[in-house]
Amino acid sequence: MIETDDMEFAPRIITPDNISEDSDIEVTLRPQTLHEYIGQDKVKQNLAVYIEASKRRGEPLDHVLLYGPPGLGKTTLSAIIAHEMGVNLRITTGPAIEKPGDLASLLTSLNDNDVLFIDEIHRLSRAVEEILYPAMEDRVIDIILGKGPSARSIRMDLRPFTLIGATTRAGQLSSPLRDRFGVIQRLELYNTDQLTDIIRRSSMILGIPCTADGAREIAGRARGTPRIANRLLKRVRDFADVMGNGQINQEIASIALSRLEIDNLGLDSLDRRMLEMIIKGYNGGPVGLETLASALGEEAVTLEDVCEPFLMQLGFLGRTPRGRCATNLAYKHLGIPLPNNNGGQLSFGNP
Ligand code: ADP
Repeated sequence: MIETDDMEFAPRIITPDNISEDSDIEVTLRPQTLHEYIGQDKVKQNLAVYIEASKRRGEPLDHVLLYGPPGLGKTTLSAIIAHEMGVNLRITTGPAIEKPGDLASLLTSLNDNDVLFIDEIHRLSRAVEEILYPAMEDRVIDIILGKGPSARSIRMDLRPFTLIGATTRAGQLSSPLRDRFGVIQRLELYNTDQLTDIIRRSSMILGIPCTADGAREIAGRARGTPRIANRLLKRVRDFADVMGNGQINQEIASIALSRLEIDNLGLDSLDRRMLEMIIKGYNGGPVGLETLASALGEEAVTLEDVCEPFLMQLGFLGRTPRGRCATNLAYKHLGIPLPNNNGGQLSFGNP
């Protein structure tokens, strides 16, 4: 019998990806209007103008590309756009559209000015992507009927629609696809004030008593990501129910988050293991991503998409052509003395 350690397969509590435990609350917590959507002010201001202009002209909104790390509110924003435009929203993902025919039937089922949201749009296959070009540009699709020498192509007109594409990796989008989006907006990580507001709003909706400093304590450790903030709120509530009187305050939040191994800056055990491996295993770096991933027994993509953006934002990690390096700030945060010769690691961000 093969024995497995369940913890090894449990999703990290601070992964920004959607995990099953989020599903029940995500729908309830999604803001419905631009006004309710906290932060991302520049994106909101621009979208408000484009939405108003399209509504006045009675036209669909131009195609929109939203990019940025997972959990920052791309799906939420597309639902808000559909809501503000007064149209229906269809949600799908790049990998779910397997054949050109799948996309053709989605496109032909839309009503006037509807929004089609494609998450992970960088993962569309080439064949499917090619259907999108004329659909986005001229509102037509070419459908091939039959096979072999008798196959013929017919052109079908589509109703006016808006495509909203979301991606965590704008760089992986082919340029013909990227060029067909009229509006391209990048979502940024949220600051602690904004996350505090998001947690306060969520705690009101969920009926969880939470003090201002309790919300701020959670916000400070949520890696700039609303999805993580909401998930931590739910977990901390359990501690408040069992260890206190049900109210989340700063002390309970701090105890709960420490028990979840999330430190005062929001690093979890994988972030710390990654930095420790660079420092202790590779003398501060540089070390290649693949080498690091296999030394840690993790997928390179997890380190790249989940740990790195946050560690780089904190100034704990540097990326050089020769690999990843830990900075002086990382040594300081982990309480590891700097080597005398400075070990080859980056020295920006003087502690
Ligand atoms: P993405 O599509 O970028 O992965 P989502 O749109 O699914 O992220 O957002 C994850 C959760 O975070 C949503 O359920 C929503 O409750 C919350 N959220 C995201 N952005 C905001 C925001 N600006 N204000 C309030 N809540 C937000």
